[in-house]
Amino acid sequence: MTFQELELKDEILQAVKALGFETPTPVQERVIPFMLHEQKDLVALAQTGTGKTAAFGLPLLNMLEPGRRQTQALVLSPTRELCIQICKDLRNYAAGLPDIHIVPVYGGEDIRVQLRQLDRTPHIVVATPGRLIDLLQRGKVHLDAVEYLVLDEADEMLNMGFKDDIETILQEVPAEHRTLLFSATMPNEIARIARTYMQNHEEITVGERNSGTENVQHVYYLCQAKQRYLVLKRIVDMHPDIYAIIFCRTRQETKEVAEKLMHDGYNADALHGDLSQAQRDTVMQKFRIHNLQMLVATDVAARGLDVSDLTHVINYNLPDDVEVYTHRSGRTGRANKKGVSVSIIHSKEKYKIKTIERMLKRDFERQLIPSGLDVCKKQLFNMINKMQHVEVNEQIDAYLPQIMKQLEYLSKEDIIKRFVSEEFNRFLDYYKDAPDLNVEEKPADRKSRKRQQDEPGKPAGKKEPRAKKKKTGEKIRMKINLGERQGITPKRLLGMINDVVGDRDIMVGDIEITNKFTFFDIFADQFAKLAHAFASQNDIELEPAKGNRAYDNRRKADFNEGFWDDGAWDAAPRGRRKGGSRRGEDKPWRRNRRK
Ligand code: AMP
Repeated sequence: MTFQELELKDEILQAVKALGFETPTPVQERVIPFMLHEQKDLVALAQTGTGKTAAFGLPLLNMLEPGRRQTQALVLSPTRELCIQICKDLRNYAAGLPDIHIVPVYGGEDIRVQLRQLDRTPHIVVATPGRLIDLLQRGKVHLDAVEYLVLDEADEMLNMGFKDDIETILQEVPAEHRTLLFSATMPNEIARIARTYMQNHEEITVGERNSGTENVQHVYYLCQAKQRYLVLKRIVDMHPDIYAIIFCRTRQETKEVAEKLMHDGYNADALHGDLSQAQRDTVMQKFRIHNLQMLVATDVAARGLDVSDLTHVINYNLPDDVEVYTHRSGRTGRANKKGVSVSIIHSKEKYKIKTIERMLKRDFERQLIPSGLDVCKKQLFNMINKMQHVEVNEQIDAYLPQIMKQLEYLSKEDIIKRFVSEEFNRFLDYYKDAPDLNVEEKPADRKSRKRQQDEPGKPAGKKEPRAKKKKTGEKIRMKINLGERQGITPKRLLGMINDVVGDRDIMVGDIEITNKFTFFDIFADQFAKLAHAFASQNDIELEPAKGNRAYDNRRKADFNEGFWDDGAWDAAPRGRRKGGSRRGEDKPWRRNRRK
């Protein structure tokens, strides 16, 4: 399908072309015609990064009336970053529609700037729920002419505690509007919102939920960081028929790994953002038709690549975000085939494996890095196997008498040895004195893994390694009533904190996510800011975790009242230590703590 076939306005098609979009993504193919030609509400299940913004943005822009100065569409998004991104994307899509005015409103920015932008009524408001409600109460946003309400990353909004805000907003928009809900998952609460607020809605699922793919085996290899490349080669050599994407974190790393592989005689190439579109297309096409065995890629560059028969996904470096890992691993094990998601890690990254295990509810298997001998054996028998099954070309018959004559003094055994050596000397030479690349698991790691095996599903380690911090000072361990069940990931936690606090100042370290709660460290002098911000979040309970040293010391000091008034909290925020009488009354998180 082409964008032209989607019957969008010329101005929009031109903008899409200028952005380099050649064909619609699957979610766009399904959502754009639906929005343009149907009148129903929509629940679309699609992962992030699938082109959702254009899927709703292009038809919205196509249908809005630029001449009518009213807010005709409202897009709700969970975080300030996403809000800004959506607005930027929509403005790009509307580049040929100069009369269309789009305004983002989100927490954490001086509201006066947004108020000024709202002076001229926008056609589209892109908002985080909390700030929108604030602006509604100030009478600065009017939703009475809204025809389209988009809930983007709806599951994420619920995870972040915006349920009540969303319901309030849903009640503010006129009855006669279309709701378009996008979500990566379908928890019960989303189903309930759909039932309550949508009429006769259609459900579109694009792509598979890849996190649960049963066909994917998750494997990791533990090595020294500097030996990653050697380990990669052993893995690849151990799987002569590998057809894999090797994911790297940066363009530079992608280039380096691909160049080394090519230099070492492997059938590999690189895919990254520094290539022109034409170069990228060529590489992708070569890979699609199996002319390339391995593609070394960044996550972003690999987005446009849809292949269903990968044998392996290799995480040359683990991503920071579990969702990125699920995206990567979900690229293998498709179409009823088995696949392996391999991670090459060093010992300090073990905690990442544990986090992913908990989030995916899948066990990872540590495999030992094959020895040089293992690799040689594998290659040898692969070759023998191929020889056994090779299709014999009849044209050889003509030369056979001469060949037989030439080799007549050799036994069958000698002939086999020579043929094998001809093919195989390279491997034997390379791996002759190959060292063992495995690193010992530390006793603590072994213990925790054992515990995990004994008690599957239970977090193996109490604490995750400390993140490096530039800042120093006393830390407080915090506890929040959102955990794995609510879909909390380290990234989501940080996003939520940034969004609620309204800037990115709070430094968070040592995150531990359990089923129902998340624990994390913050610096004592940032506590007040965090607590202030979360005080207005009705559904979120934030409190100092029991059992951390700082907290226990406080208890020993027998402070029953005025937790934050106590002078021993040297690093505690100045503003909160003054004016004690105001404290406590308007801080629900404090009352929660004392229950
Ligand atoms: P989204 O899921 O909306 O965040 O989009 C993910 C990325 O895909 C963004 O960088 C978009 O610019 C890009 N994108 C969206 N649609 C297309 C398309 N049809 N072709 C190529 N890239 C696209």
